[in-house]
Amino acid sequence: MSQNNFILSLLEIKGPNIRIIDVIDLPASSPADQEHTKLIKAQLSYPIKQCRHCGFAAVVKNGFRKAYVRLPSLNGIHYELELWKQRYYCRQCQTTFGATTNLTANNQTLSGQLKNQIMEFAKEGLNGKLIARVCHCSPSSVRRTIKERVKPHYRMAKLPHNLCFDEFRSVKSTMSFICCDSENHQLVATLHDQLSPSIIDYFENRYSKKERAQVKTVVIDLNAQYQSFIYRLFPNARIIIDRFHIVQLVGRALNNCR
Ligand SMILES: [Zn+2]
Repeated sequence: MSQNNFILSLLEIKGPNIRIIDVIDLPASSPADQEHTKLIKAQLSYPIKQCRHCGFAAVVKNGFRKAYVRLPSLNGIHYELELWKQRYYCRQCQTTFGATTNLTANNQTLSGQLKNQIMEFAKEGLNGKLIARVCHCSPSSVRRTIKERVKPHYRMAKLPHNLCFDEFRSVKSTMSFICCDSENHQLVATLHDQLSPSIIDYFENRYSKKERAQVKTVVIDLNAQYQSFIYRLFPNARIIIDRFHIVQLVGRALNNCR
């Protein structure tokens, strides 16, 4: 195995057309910063016979263009790849195009491996800022990666026959809506707000009238707002006032009186 392949193997880079040119130690950005960065300079080039646009065999190499790829850190050291990508020029249709690699998606700097690492930390429940610090990227990159990789469930496959409605305090102290199956406590939906139009829209857009008609009971607190639209959404449902909320209300009233 050549030295080039050793480095690629160590960094888990699977690109047969990538050639390592140099590895440079970059100084820390501030004296307080303990971690240092290793910059790996590499070239991406391969022979091309036909033009990508017109198909004619009139392609010549036409210099390089620099791109950055962020790699996952290894033993606490931050690695960054300065990849010089080959450009090609077609003499037939006079267009230019570049060499491609599956290391990153188009116009992105985060490598697939780094995204895997971000997802691993996210699954462990680490917060975005901490993941960003460990993975040497911005919190917005972490947010984008999670959004890209996790596809939200459009709807629950089958609407349960017995539902529970409630609200909870979520981010920035706003009240959010939650709905779950009252038998097995499986989550059906969480919504950003607890406003009637949002809840009505959610159920009407995801479940047919026939599906909604099969709901038998809806357990709610003493929120009158819910009662106003439950019969519209679930025509055959009975409303049950939750025992817990009644006890809570009585307890609060008693405390106020005292
Ligand atoms: Zn061409």
